[in-house]
Amino acid sequence: MHDQHGRIINYLRLSITDRCNFRCRYCMPETGIEKQAHQQILRYEDLLRIARVATSLGIDRIRVTGGEPLIRRGVVAFLKQLSVLPGVQDLALTTNGMLLGEMAKSIFEAGVKRVNVSLDSLNEQSFSDITRGGSLQQVLDGIETAAAVGLQIKLNMVVMRGINDDEINDFARLSLDRPWSVRFIEYMPTIQEPDWQKRLLSGDEVLAQIRHEFNLTPLESSGQCGPSRPFKISGAIGTIGIITPMSNHFCSSCNRLRITSDGLAKSCLLSDETVDLKPYLQRADDCDLQQRIEKIIFAKPSRHTINEAGAVHKPFTMSSIGG
Ligand code: SAM
Ligand code: SF4
Repeated sequence: MHDQHGRIINYLRLSITDRCNFRCRYCMPETGIEKQAHQQILRYEDLLRIARVATSLGIDRIRVTGGEPLIRRGVVAFLKQLSVLPGVQDLALTTNGMLLGEMAKSIFEAGVKRVNVSLDSLNEQSFSDITRGGSLQQVLDGIETAAAVGLQIKLNMVVMRGINDDEINDFARLSLDRPWSVRFIEYMPTIQEPDWQKRLLSGDEVLAQIRHEFNLTPLESSGQCGPSRPFKISGAIGTIGIITPMSNHFCSSCNRLRITSDGLAKSCLLSDETVDLKPYLQRADDCDLQQRIEKIIFAKPSRHTINEAGAVHKPFTMSSIGG
């Protein structure tokens, strides 16, 4: 369906848990986050109900995210049920990759065709520092397994000045001989770390670094690119993507609706506004739920203001929303 600004909203991001086996420094504080109580987390049947209603309103792409979605028990059976919902054309997953080695095959068989893996360093020590304890080798092995079973791979690197910006070209190089999309995402000050300003590095700066070493050609955007501006290094099999939520926001083409694992609907990632769907899930039929979701989609704000001077935002952890 269309929102009040004429955008077609056809993409749902479903967060199925706020739990995570990492503590990425840009996503949550070192002390972790206050976890939602178990009874607050939506049951799979409620998530499926929301997805079914959303598809009746024109959603045809669903991405399952978290926290870390692969740590929730029963996720494979849930993915299978989602993939066969009428109207779902594309089912994808965002993961930190730690459990991909053991789960990639069953995820693929459940109907997921594409995975986005968050990977912010190719250096074991730096990877462990950024994720506060993750194992780089386990994630790399998981990505190889995912590719081998037939999953399409996108890698997402959040670029932070002074932390991992010296690895930009190492990441770009990964696109040379693999059919992967390597995407560079501008760091967003979601948890408002004290030093966040000095971590910001724009997509243009990333492009300049890549161009320093490689010949880059812009590509035509396809439906699969989302907010990413696609490029190709001459002779590469894979592609490069630049995602610029800070320096050049893509709100005018945003097609997303988000649902958090505790049932809050959010039509803009960077707006503080949420609507609790839980009361509507207590009703036997879907009429009210459908009307509420319809209203949320229609009222989607025209743009976010996180990068505007004077704008005040409540800090939030991306793990509770799903990115
Ligand atoms: N745990 C999964 C993962 O890491 O892929 C899924 C959830 S995670 C919250 C989804 C995405 O949000 C990841 O790609 C992560 O890099 C991104 N993200 C989290 N905090 C961010 C921030 N402050 N700026 C930019 N991207 C962020
Ligand atoms: Fe966990 Fe993903 Fe957040 Fe990292 S970015 S802490 S993996 S939810």
